[in-house]
Amino acid sequence: EPLILGPEEHGIDPKLVSPNAVRVTQTLQEAGFKAFVVGGAVRDLLLGVKPKDFDIATDATPEEVKRLFRRAFIIGRRFQIVHVMFGQELLEVTTFRGNGSNNAPKDEHGRVLRDNQFGPQHEDAARRDFTINAMYYDPATQSVLDYHGGTADIRDKLLRIIGQPEARYREDPVRMLRVVRFAAKLGFTIEPATRAPIPVMAPLIDNVPTARVFDEMLKLLMSGHAMACLNQLRAAGLHHGLLPLLDVVLEQPIGMKFVTLALESTDDRVKAGKGVSPGFLFASLLWHQVLEKWNAYRAAGEAPIPALHLAADDVLEAQTENLALQRRIASDMRDIWAMQPRFERRTGKGPYKLLENQRFRAGYDFLLLRCESGELETELGDWWQAFVDGDTAERERLQSNTS
Ligand code: ATP
Ligand code: MG
Repeated sequence: EPLILGPEEHGIDPKLVSPNAVRVTQTLQEAGFKAFVVGGAVRDLLLGVKPKDFDIATDATPEEVKRLFRRAFIIGRRFQIVHVMFGQELLEVTTFRGNGSNNAPKDEHGRVLRDNQFGPQHEDAARRDFTINAMYYDPATQSVLDYHGGTADIRDKLLRIIGQPEARYREDPVRMLRVVRFAAKLGFTIEPATRAPIPVMAPLIDNVPTARVFDEMLKLLMSGHAMACLNQLRAAGLHHGLLPLLDVVLEQPIGMKFVTLALESTDDRVKAGKGVSPGFLFASLLWHQVLEKWNAYRAAGEAPIPALHLAADDVLEAQTENLALQRRIASDMRDIWAMQPRFERRTGKGPYKLLENQRFRAGYDFLLLRCESGELETELGDWWQAFVDGDTAERERLQSNTS
């Protein structure tokens, strides 16, 4: 009983659909299976946005899917999905999931631990999170299947959770973070019943494995709308105790200028299609903590460089515990911080050595943010900008002009 919309009703531009997604659905359909583009890609297509990746839903089992494609790999043990590769493009093919969540194993707070039973398509739609994420598009007939009023909610710019909100957040508290991220990213309003339980249920996020919360936070911060997301988190009453990191960031008035600038520049980079490194992002979010401890160690008589390393150790240690900061990210952060004092030495071979550092660009961008936020004299940033852009003669001139 889904609503079925034809091309003139939904207005999806077929040119925005990845040819490989068309190939996958066609191959599955020719083998006698149902197959659709699903989830975020359909939402984006309806919004006229080119989807960044395409997920496919089918009634074929993972084994049946794998047999149909040359480069296909079954991923995951409990929750099996198939990765189908065409050149650089990866498509995720998932078998329809049923609402086994009624009797799926749960933790003592009601969070579903495993949810991997196959089922009919209408149940697959019902177990998705929001109405706008629960639509299916068939490239062959160019029709959209809408089980939960997603097309109307797209039109009204509304984020509405499917089913009973409290029950759905209890099953998976991460949905509270997702609703905030989508609202900020799409500029949608959170429908009142979807929003109402969030401040009360927010503490349930504490029981979710930190690695999963961290992944979702990373998506949020790298969505291209980080500032809007953080404001939404605050408005939804989600910022308290959500992540120790966020408490630190959102409640310190001193570092806010720096953090705001860092997040704005991250948003700009994402929107321009440039890469963003999580290390740079977290190094920015925690910089004022590092600065504070750095000053404290120096005041206690420690020399500047060792003091900085001690401060970095303290901050990273506290965050790796409760944030599941991956080691790689933590080591990037340390590199960026450790490079900072080296920018203050402008004479001799120091600046040339610094230029050759593998992570120079990140350290330099970080320095510019510090100048822009008013922590350092703008003159230092200007000098480095000229040094980076200058030829040999210009660099010599710059060095001889500084004592
Ligand atoms: P994005 O553009 O950020 O990737 P997306 O909607 O594709 O957005 P994904 O995390 O890639 O988000 O998930 C793909 C689809 O899987 C969603 O559209 C939704 O239908 C379903 N889904 C993802 N996470 C959940 C969840 N926690 N609960 C229920 N359904 C979910
Ligand atoms: Mg996606």
